[in-house]
Amino acid sequence: MDLNLLDRSLAARGEPPYRARQVWEWAARGAGSYEEMTNIPAALRAELEREVPLSSLAVEREDRSRDGTRKALLRTADDRPVEAVLMTYLDGRRSVCVSSQSGCPLTCAFCATGAMRFGRNLTASEILDQVLHFKRSDKVDHVVFMGMGEPMMNVDAVIAACERLPSVGVAASRTTVSTVGWVPGIERLTADGPPVRLALSLHAADPALRSELMPVNDRYPLSEVLEACRAWREARGKRVFVEYVMLAGVNDRYEQAVALAEALVPREAFKVNLIPYNPTGAGFEGSSRSAIDAFAAALRVHRVPVTVRLTRGRDIDAACGQLAGAVASRSDGAPAPAG
Ligand code: SAH
Repeated sequence: MDLNLLDRSLAARGEPPYRARQVWEWAARGAGSYEEMTNIPAALRAELEREVPLSSLAVEREDRSRDGTRKALLRTADDRPVEAVLMTYLDGRRSVCVSSQSGCPLTCAFCATGAMRFGRNLTASEILDQVLHFKRSDKVDHVVFMGMGEPMMNVDAVIAACERLPSVGVAASRTTVSTVGWVPGIERLTADGPPVRLALSLHAADPALRSELMPVNDRYPLSEVLEACRAWREARGKRVFVEYVMLAGVNDRYEQAVALAEALVPREAFKVNLIPYNPTGAGFEGSSRSAIDAFAAALRVHRVPVTVRLTRGRDIDAACGQLAGAVASRSDGAPAPAG
């Protein structure tokens, strides 16, 4: 729900200040209509129904994977595509992967979102509405900012959304913001953000290779990014999760694991998460399971804590940018990601 529009509508009617909180509490619990909001006078409910749509995002389509993953393609009021994914795990965890921007201005070579046109930053309400979309029909207890866009380039809205997530049932300790290493955003989150988790997309310790995979490395080199991560650890007492997408023959060699281990000092400030690559037609192949295991073993020998990420939703193109990219390219004639 557009919370600014809600505030304006209530103020224009001279409603008491607590009304906005009452309406938000219903929305945050996953109310599917104004009718359910029984502590709001019926006449006001009818007016809000006309003026303030329950969600700032329209549902364009939704797919469900064999593994239970649900992927929604949503649209803002000005017709920008937004993807959100609900991942379910055997231990009962239910995690929503949200987008912070429609498209992304960065052009990471392996990422489907980087290949589509950048739209704009999403508002805090548009970020929250992705979570509420799933909350209306499912339990949600984790949120990761790993959908479309670079959260740290939209840090005000991301912080505002994170601050409201506990009322949706997602504690800050179960909220993870993932960044390419946009240093001013990391610094701002360190200074002002709620106690969320921070994840860094690293992908290569070698500067030349990292710049090839992630051109943003030319602007914020890894050494500066890791310095900002160490400052986060100092200030917050929490590790930074390092994401490393495993690309066959590109960044998965033994020496590259050693170089990664050497970059991650002090050890206790970082934990590595190796990510099996979901091919998008960008010309990369994912490393084999045995290559991923060997890379993990090399890191462990160097005393780097490491886990391998579970892959969810492969059959529904659930990787970052894949669904919106496919729809966008159908309508503007650009090649569709193979996904
Ligand atoms: N811009 C932020 C958040 C969005 S991407 C960031 O880059 O961290 C979230 C994660 O998904 C990143 O680590 C990104 O590298 C990874 N990713 C992107 N495309 C992928 C793909 N096709 N397969 C697997 N992981 C991918």
